Amino acid sequence: MSRIWIKQPLAVFTGNALDASHGLVVEGQRIVEVLGQGQSPSLPCEEIFDARDLVILPGLINSHHHFYQTLTRAWAPVVNAPLFPWLVNLYPVWARLNPEQLHIATQVALAELLLSGCTFAADHHYLFPQQLTDAIDIQVNAAQDLGMRVMLTRGSMSLGQADGGLPPQHTVQAMQVILDDSQRLVEKYHQRGEGAMVNIALAPCSPFSVTPEIMRESAKLAESLDVRLHTHLAETLDEEQFCLERFGLRTVDYLESVGWLQNRTWLAHGIHFNADEITRLGQAGVGICHCPHSNMRLASGICPSLDLLAAGAPIGLGVDGSASGDASNLILEARQAMYLQRLKYGAEKITPELALGFATTGSAHILGRGQDLGQIQVGYQADLACYRLDDLKFSGSHDPIAALLLCGADRAHDVMVAGQWRVRTGQIQGIDIEELKFRHRAAAKQLLAA
Ligand SMILES: [Zn+2]
Repeated sequence: MSRIWIKQPLAVFTGNALDASHGLVVEGQRIVEVLGQGQSPSLPCEEIFDARDLVILPGLINSHHHFYQTLTRAWAPVVNAPLFPWLVNLYPVWARLNPEQLHIATQVALAELLLSGCTFAADHHYLFPQQLTDAIDIQVNAAQDLGMRVMLTRGSMSLGQADGGLPPQHTVQAMQVILDDSQRLVEKYHQRGEGAMVNIALAPCSPFSVTPEIMRESAKLAESLDVRLHTHLAETLDEEQFCLERFGLRTVDYLESVGWLQNRTWLAHGIHFNADEITRLGQAGVGICHCPHSNMRLASGICPSLDLLAAGAPIGLGVDGSASGDASNLILEARQAMYLQRLKYGAEKITPELALGFATTGSAHILGRGQDLGQIQVGYQADLACYRLDDLKFSGSHDPIAALLLCGADRAHDVMVAGQWRVRTGQIQGIDIEELKFRHRAAAKQLLAA
């Protein structure tokens, strides 16, 4: 295996207390040395990568998305809608999604994330209309073509409008169909342990689109298959009201009642909690994916991130689906997290490093990958995002790490996944972006025209 010395970067955020000012050495898919001030590699390196103009981060990790939504960005009828009307208008459009459209939408979402410095992305896919029962298989293929790590969650909807839920009846599936397909996907694609490129998790969509039975059965199945659990929770007050009316329970009580208050679970959004609920979530070790752009666009609220962290609940970051986090750019999402959280907690408490921590160590933790991803450390996977500060927007900036977020870095210069360069000089290796955009625009038009 050849060794690469990523030499003397302009600045490094390691995600821990290590000094990496003289760079790091990558061998195969792992980081084998982290070099502090004055240190050099202990063995000769076949390649020296001059990083003097680069700010290096652990590859960013996106812990919540809906890739298919790249086809419905900035759609006029819902531009100014909050969550429930936004969903009700979009469900019938999304229900028409076909395999080719999902494939191209997934490629675009992953390419966009990769160019922003993301190396590991979770997706929550819960649409399985008759023409799209192999949705996750399609996503596995798209991710493998780009060489990205993915956590693909087998989402589900089982509570249609006829039974008091929000989604149209033709978008929901029977419980046994969902559970059988979940088991098939885990057995076929889920890789275990260090360095895994594909993980599968189980992800009933939200309290207003699934039954308590599918929540309970999914928790049991996740335990027997040893995979993670994901859902949307406490995103809006409409949702809280729905839970009170239908189950007579607040959201966290509902979560507990179906066996999900445990450290296998990570939740998207996690906004509307009281103090007692925050304590219980922290004690259980439930992970929370903060999605600031989406929460601001839909005016859902602000995740109480520092209270959750203090209680013991790890916080990750997600761009959310591209119909509410329309620019699915993870380094910009870290910027937005920093600013939104400052409104809640004040400027002194919310540093650029804290926001970058959400996008790296925090996301790794909530996706169950805290042991091999999210940090620059010996033995960790060589997933790296490298940024240049040579755009006009950075001119005159001083602290390189702070400048990434304060000046609004939006594109990585080089990105490495598992020791392989997937982006060089701002271009994804082996992908024709112009051709991809052409096909994606056509697919988006076709979906809306149907
Ligand atoms: Zn979502």
